[in-house]
Amino acid sequence: MASSFVDKARISVHAGKGGDGAVSFHREKYVAAGGPDGGDGGRGGSVIFVVDDHMSTLMDFRYKRKYVAGNGNNGGAKRCYGRDGENLYIKVPRGTIVRDTETGAIMHDMSTGENFTVAKGGRGGWGNMHFATPTRQVPRFAKPGLPGESHDITLELKLLADVGLVGFPNVGKSTLLSVVSRAHPKIANYHFTTLFPNLGVVYVDEGVSFVMADIPGIIEGASEGAGLGHDFLRHIDRCRLLVHLVDVSGSEGRDPVEDFDAINAELAEYSPGLASRPQLVAANKCDILGDDRENIERLRAHVEELGYQFFEMSAAAHMGTKELVKACSGLLDTLPPVASYEADYVPPEPVVDTSEDITIEHFDDMWIVEGPWLQRLVARINFEDYESRMYFDRILREAGVYERMEQMGVKDGDTVSMYDLMFEYKD
Ligand code: GDP
Ligand code: MG
Repeated sequence: MASSFVDKARISVHAGKGGDGAVSFHREKYVAAGGPDGGDGGRGGSVIFVVDDHMSTLMDFRYKRKYVAGNGNNGGAKRCYGRDGENLYIKVPRGTIVRDTETGAIMHDMSTGENFTVAKGGRGGWGNMHFATPTRQVPRFAKPGLPGESHDITLELKLLADVGLVGFPNVGKSTLLSVVSRAHPKIANYHFTTLFPNLGVVYVDEGVSFVMADIPGIIEGASEGAGLGHDFLRHIDRCRLLVHLVDVSGSEGRDPVEDFDAINAELAEYSPGLASRPQLVAANKCDILGDDRENIERLRAHVEELGYQFFEMSAAAHMGTKELVKACSGLLDTLPPVASYEADYVPPEPVVDTSEDITIEHFDDMWIVEGPWLQRLVARINFEDYESRMYFDRILREAGVYERMEQMGVKDGDTVSMYDLMFEYKD
């Protein structure tokens, strides 16, 4: 039954590999030795998160865990470029936080609606057409494409809403949302109705609106043992204002003052920030109150003494809802905008284990040096920066790469190619 709500998901994302460059020579009848015409490999596709405002849960990530973008095609003869790999676009609800699973660091907050490239596709390798020089007419080599980035990602949803509705089950939260917005949340007279957060846009006036969220409470889940726990509270974490609904009709045999305190205690337990969030209190179901005003007056006295604004309302009878909406809107004007989270993810230092193999090949004066650690290192070094270049140089020296090249006969002025990097060899 209940615990089907998913607002956290672990997935892995894999960008595509770049295509290899081609080795090929122009062939034509009667042309003895054509020039090199091997084309470049295509770029690998990237994995990109996009916001979809029709989504309000991370349900879709429950069964599919691995997301792979397309590989770039290899280059071909006759200067043919390989086709780029397809990007993979992954839709997420607005407000999804993208974290690096290993460190828990935030990579991006999908709040603004901007796309976020989480894994970049590998660059395609150059075909041999790039390697011809006056002294090197027959380049018999091309560059391989680079692998794409991969990441283990944790998605976490913290919905974006201006106003969050809180309160016990059945107090009328979903009813209120459906009355003041165009959202159609499930409404039923039993606990446990709302297992998914619902968002609705509340139009106040021309050009004035706000987003209201109806979020299943702690108590629904906890009391039924559904294991929802405090998970749901993460969704109201970012609400600028809380509207606390209390059923004063006594129709469920509850005490409104106890209910009010119980919910606030839960909020405080989850986070002090949430407990001190601006809050309006709405006594609901006033339409069936009759003459017995004892409950509502006790609640009013209690709430006002604590400094909260108090409203009488009937969501079902559309009584007092406009006044509540106006008060929300007025208060929101004075409150800070929705909090967004700063990225604090720092890509790890590349593992430079120089005991891993390095291959050194040369075609006349062109030297191709490759190996996994070298590739990671080249990708991370900023070659504009002197210190970084010196660091790079030192690592190669210490790993014995230059020494090996010297033994193999490298000469001053030869070209050295290391993945994206090409430079002239100097003694
Ligand atoms: P939620 O669990 O807080 O989302 O509560 P719902 O909106 O699903 O409402 C629970 C029950 O209370 C439903 O049967 C509603 O029709 C009823 N209800 C909601 N608001 C009012 C109200 O103002 N007056 C009366 N009499 N019933 C209401
Ligand atoms: Mg509900």
